[in-house]
Amino acid sequence: MSAPASPAAADCIQNVTILGATGSIGASTLDVLARHPERFRVFALSAHSRLDALLALCQQHRPALVSVPEAAASEFARRLREAGLKTEVCPGERGLCDIAAHNETHVVMAAIVGAAALPSVLAAACAGKRILLANKESLVMGGQLVLDAVRRHGATLLPVDSEHSAIFQCLPAAACIGEEAPGLRRIILTASGGPFRTLPASAFAQITPEQACAHPTWAMGRKISVDSATMMNKGLEVIEARWLFDLPGERIEAIIHPQSVVHSLVEYVDGSLLAQLGQPDMRTPIACALAWPQRIEAGVGSLDFTQLAALEFHAPDTERFPCLRLAYDALAAGGTAPTVLNAANEVAVEAFLARRLPFPGIAQTIRAVLDALPVAAADSLDALQEADRRAREAARKHLQQTP
Ligand code: NAD
Ligand code: MG
Repeated sequence: MSAPASPAAADCIQNVTILGATGSIGASTLDVLARHPERFRVFALSAHSRLDALLALCQQHRPALVSVPEAAASEFARRLREAGLKTEVCPGERGLCDIAAHNETHVVMAAIVGAAALPSVLAAACAGKRILLANKESLVMGGQLVLDAVRRHGATLLPVDSEHSAIFQCLPAAACIGEEAPGLRRIILTASGGPFRTLPASAFAQITPEQACAHPTWAMGRKISVDSATMMNKGLEVIEARWLFDLPGERIEAIIHPQSVVHSLVEYVDGSLLAQLGQPDMRTPIACALAWPQRIEAGVGSLDFTQLAALEFHAPDTERFPCLRLAYDALAAGGTAPTVLNAANEVAVEAFLARRLPFPGIAQTIRAVLDALPVAAADSLDALQEADRRAREAARKHLQQTP
């Protein structure tokens, strides 16, 4: 690791807090940071499980702070002391919000999976941080709330989801997150189609968690891998795009592109289409968000066009993959409907991964919960968390009643 050239250079080093450091995005982020020690320092880390892996990261990166679940905090503090580390433990959800909003944190990588990320994303926004947003569920639930907080407190929100990073990179340089860019006709999100793109619906009931988690082009956490297999991932991304680019659902399209080389497209009113292309490697959008508007090395090689057989594009099949349609419906219903969709999906995916629910049961559960619960205004964190709680309860009840 090279030493900073001068005290002035040391002052320019950005302190990075990684929420969800032990996950797939956390690992890719640490990989990119390690390539730029003169620019970034790991300031704080968090993990929910796999605390052995977190301890190893603490030994390697020596963060000032870590956040772990409340119940694990004192034991983890003991292990840190035994390892001779001075890292301070900030327990539970409060601790996540504290490390996100800490006055020495410059950059927050929001890479926790699921609804659990929302409070810390809001805390980072309210503290005016530069937020690299991998977690899409927080925008699905609280898009309005998060963007209001970003604007009010002068925070910077940068997309990390590869499709949204692609779109952001194709927008005019002056474009602002949360505002419709001038001259835009529509945006097109590409989707790999997941591992069951060509599987007949009659075989869906036999799909196992292992098959669902074996994504053809991206290596990701288990929850997002199942979301990709059901195409709920693309549905969540449509809602995420609605907030990041301030467009109605009708102007956000999803298209199947099995090679995952074109990461998404923007169409302007004059008929021009701009796309961002590259290897399917999350280090590209992570590096892009870390350094934006500059560019830094991400460890990602060049794309060899001569090795690409063909680039295919197909319309999605919402008969076999009803989750995509459910997400558009929830977006149109507005209010807490996307929160309900997301919570029901999280419960159903967990049940599928635990072999308590067949693959087609995921969409059935979400539909039943959306039908059962009324839509309320999504105007406070409390309202969102209450809708989330009620949807989880309704989803569990539905699962109990399903043979
Ligand atoms: P992952 O499962 O690999 O890692 C999740 C991380 O969150 C872990 O560090 C885990 O300890 C932590 N976590 C889990 N539950 C938690 C809870 N209740 N409270 C606090 N922390 C908790 O997931 P991932 O694939 O890295 O995805 C993270 C987020 O990024 C997701 O929202 C996902 O949709 C999004 N994303 C991921 C990818 C990808 O390629 N992996 C791409 C785009 C977007
Ligand atoms: Mg994506």
